[in-house]
Amino acid sequence: MNLILFGPPGAGKGTQADRLTSKRDWPKLSTGDMLRAAVAAGTEIGRKAKDIMDRGELVSDEIVVGIIADRIEQPDCRNGFILDGFPRNAAQAEALDAMLAEKGLDLDGAIEIRVVDSKLIDRINQRISESAEVRADDNADTLEKRLKVYHKETAPLLPYYEAQGKLRHVDGMQNIDDVASQIENVLKGLSGEDT
Ligand code: ADP
Repeated sequence: MNLILFGPPGAGKGTQADRLTSKRDWPKLSTGDMLRAAVAAGTEIGRKAKDIMDRGELVSDEIVVGIIADRIEQPDCRNGFILDGFPRNAAQAEALDAMLAEKGLDLDGAIEIRVVDSKLIDRINQRISESAEVRADDNADTLEKRLKVYHKETAPLLPYYEAQGKLRHVDGMQNIDDVASQIENVLKGLSGEDT
């Protein structure tokens, strides 16, 4: 299945995508992880992205569309993939449609993990207090910026997928296992519709 996970920063998209990936043959395509790897490796993309990411703003569409286009080409994506953190705005959603159409692929579903903003702030603060290596963009100011960007640029994409009958949502306020089982139910529903 080709899926998108939507949700604000700290909603648990990465955790849930990891769970799905470990159970199935669908790699997680996380633009955030790929950009952080580019920053750590000191590549040209990493150098361009670093300051933008530290500010909580969006890296250019050209860069992220390019890395996703390359990644989707890889043979391990043939059975399906989970997009985590992409698309994040209308231009990226259009680029994704074009990429999929060119390959004769279709999106099976878009799952929104819903969490209220106040809970996200608590979670990020907890993530900071618990981790040895704190992400440069995990701080109260940047989180506020990332949340604003999510509401302004990314959340408006949801009606687009809803209009195609592809949007489902799960309650991301529950614990990790509960959210995972809600997602499993969504997948059952989606695959039932295929047959
Ligand atoms: P979050 O926890 O905010 O969802 P991510 O790990 O997905 O974080 O992304 C971290 C940062 O990487 C973003 O704030 C942004 O600067 C950059 N980034 C990730 N994905 C994209 C994208 N699709 N378009 C533009 N910038 C992106």
